Amino acid sequence: MIKKKLLISNFLVIVILLLLLCCFMLSACFTVAFADTAQSTSNYLDYVLEFLGDRDILETKIIGDGGNNEFLLVEMSPSGYAIFAVDDTQYSFVEGAKEANSPFFKYINEALVYLGPMSYFIDKGNYYFNIMTEECVDKEDVETTEYDFLSQQRVMRSAPALFSMENQPLPDKTYNENGYTFIKDAEYFKKSYYFPENLNNDCGIVALFLLLGYFDTCKNDAFINSNDGFISNGSYSALSKSIAFAPKTTDSLKEHLKTYGHRLLLPGDNFAMAEKELKATIQDYIKNKCPSLSSNCVHYSGSIINTHTNPRKLINGGIPVVLVIINYERPTDSQKEKEGGHCVIAYGYKDDTFVTHFGWEDYPEVYLSKYTAYAYYALEYNGEHVHSRNMMDLLLKYYCGCGAKV
Ligand SMILES: [Zn+2]
Repeated sequence: MIKKKLLISNFLVIVILLLLLCCFMLSACFTVAFADTAQSTSNYLDYVLEFLGDRDILETKIIGDGGNNEFLLVEMSPSGYAIFAVDDTQYSFVEGAKEANSPFFKYINEALVYLGPMSYFIDKGNYYFNIMTEECVDKEDVETTEYDFLSQQRVMRSAPALFSMENQPLPDKTYNENGYTFIKDAEYFKKSYYFPENLNNDCGIVALFLLLGYFDTCKNDAFINSNDGFISNGSYSALSKSIAFAPKTTDSLKEHLKTYGHRLLLPGDNFAMAEKELKATIQDYIKNKCPSLSSNCVHYSGSIINTHTNPRKLINGGIPVVLVIINYERPTDSQKEKEGGHCVIAYGYKDDTFVTHFGWEDYPEVYLSKYTAYAYYALEYNGEHVHSRNMMDLLLKYYCGCGAKV
């Protein structure tokens, strides 16, 4: 098993080296979009305070992963957290949020184990306890001891962006806030608190129904047929002219998307998805449920090369992007050669950091290093806007995601 893994990683290194060579040869011909401003700093406190603004550091703790990797967890008051990968004297930002403490916070005195974004565990001796899903995983089934997070990060940082021409945020489809570029309707995701439960490896499905709710509410009311019971009303504040909470997509939409069957082959009742599965599921959904929209839908996906530039280019065009995140919970059996594939939705960015919805109610706005993403999927709708009636105000008047009273 170990030999096989080494062979795979050697192969990957060779591929990356070849890609780097190509990049070097082609660099005279192509403009590499966006400067690579790695958020490595030996003075992480400056970065935390700049990132989180007016907050106090409540607690810091070094967390392991059961192997050789170390992470620094910083919890803030009154809210906020940041997690850094520790590389000798350097700290590389991995993830963080301003409005919430980390999933670890309630368990700060326990033996914490961090297996990358969306993978928060407690070491219970014989098993790991998954804090978010409350599932128990046999230690023997999680092979982390050989995983080198920092090497992986270096590989991701050196992945070239060969064919990305620079583009600028479109002023009518984006807005700028504190230096971050957001898609025009980012509020939909920032205010998405309610949706079906996100169990282990369900996050691909969660990302997709968040997307469908967004397209139905903000782009065209035909994305979700109101007779299907796939979405329930959100709340709109007529006073502040903003979304109070976004419409909720339902368990029946979750189950419906699962029936298309595009999932990675994982042990158990998992529904992990990578970019191909995400794309195939949405294509099937549109074909079956809203075929009239298909000629106005464009699908984008890719992996490794350009993962770090193309999502930003799409956000510049006002398009939210599902990012597939490196996940190194790797059960030793059949999952071994498949990346597990945690998925989040990116709807904003600044330099190397995406602003994402994690698919959990307390985490609609998480900052995430772009080097944790290895693939992406995005849907663009370029047809006419058709108002939805997905939100109500206190007077029971209906509103569209664009803010129009309908
Ligand atoms: Zn509208």
